[in-house]
Amino acid sequence: MAEQSSNDCDSLWSGADLVTMRDGAWNIIRDGFIAVTAGRIVAIGPAQEAVRFNPTHRHRFAGGIVTPGFIDCHTHLVFGGDRSAEFEQRLNGVSYADIAAQGGGILSTVRATREASLETLVELARERLALLMADGVTTVEIKSGYGLDKPTELRMLRAARCLGEQMPVEVVTTCLAAHAVPPEYRDHPDDWIQVVCDELLPEAHAAGLADAVDAFCEHLAFSPAQVARVFEAARKLELPVKLHAEQLSALGGAELAARYQALSADHLEYATDEDIRAMAEHGTVAVLLPGAFYLMRETQHPPVAGFRQHKVPMALASDLNPGTSPALSLRLMLNMGCTLFGLTPEEAVAGVTLNAARALGLQASHGSLEPGKVADFVHWNITEPAGLVYWLGGTLPCEVVYRGELR
Ligand SMILES: [Zn+2]
Repeated sequence: MAEQSSNDCDSLWSGADLVTMRDGAWNIIRDGFIAVTAGRIVAIGPAQEAVRFNPTHRHRFAGGIVTPGFIDCHTHLVFGGDRSAEFEQRLNGVSYADIAAQGGGILSTVRATREASLETLVELARERLALLMADGVTTVEIKSGYGLDKPTELRMLRAARCLGEQMPVEVVTTCLAAHAVPPEYRDHPDDWIQVVCDELLPEAHAAGLADAVDAFCEHLAFSPAQVARVFEAARKLELPVKLHAEQLSALGGAELAARYQALSADHLEYATDEDIRAMAEHGTVAVLLPGAFYLMRETQHPPVAGFRQHKVPMALASDLNPGTSPALSLRLMLNMGCTLFGLTPEEAVAGVTLNAARALGLQASHGSLEPGKVADFVHWNITEPAGLVYWLGGTLPCEVVYRGELR
């Protein structure tokens, strides 16, 4: 046998089965090890191959499984106000129209968010984010979109950046200023699009506050032509785009997004064959959001069979937002993605790991347990990965390793 020199590394983790999610599949290494240096995975394999490493720290799990850290690739978790009373009103038979006439709905969140200071927004969001993190999340995307004026949109993005600086979690920010028509622009929404393109996006970009640009393409929000203007502005700034598309009707938004090489098109209940083909051609990820589907009691299912057939990567996310998806557990979304949309458990977990990384443009460094990737992983005290998907809610005990350190 060839003599092997011992390799120094910062830490060596062993004693569990590794659910690597390499290539978006389980790809399990039974009784494996992970060697970590400077926050990156430097080697991974069966335990007997770990002898060549000479780690500074050793950590042995007592059985169980290790998965990549979960990635929630679509959230609106920074916002002011509280819509639980409105939820109760709706269940007591008050109509959406009456709630809106009383100043409820998204505009109540906009009002409360405009009134909230940066500190308040961070404080409120921190509690929600802590719950996602307790359930295995190591990377989270956070959108603006409840300011709908320049200062508040920028403040929301700043709040998202603060969360990433203050908490052991990676935050990716998305400017969603084209989320809804601001009340001040009700009769001339094109003028808001102009402000977004000419002022807001360039300012957010110059301040380093936006990693991507999103919009809501729907009859009650913005048309494909308006979204295209936002995407052109993003392209000039070399910012990647994504889109809320085909949630309530088929407008060709997903196809439009794909033509702009969007990282993802999200919701997609009404996506057509043309949308699917365009997404497959341009590598646009389908982000499925079962929380909103469930809460709004939708009946139109996203075309999962078509995405499979055309090899469009599917991700799952919480869509954490105060109106249509107050979801505080990404693991619950795994179960809902399977029971409501027919994903397999393997597809569901790929949807919060490798494919969620793709939806954020991070697949080279995140989303699977492989040498060279960030050492973000989670130890779960269960024997098979389907157990992550099987339990309805609750908090599964887990140990989270973020950048090579126990969190
Ligand atoms: Zn959303």
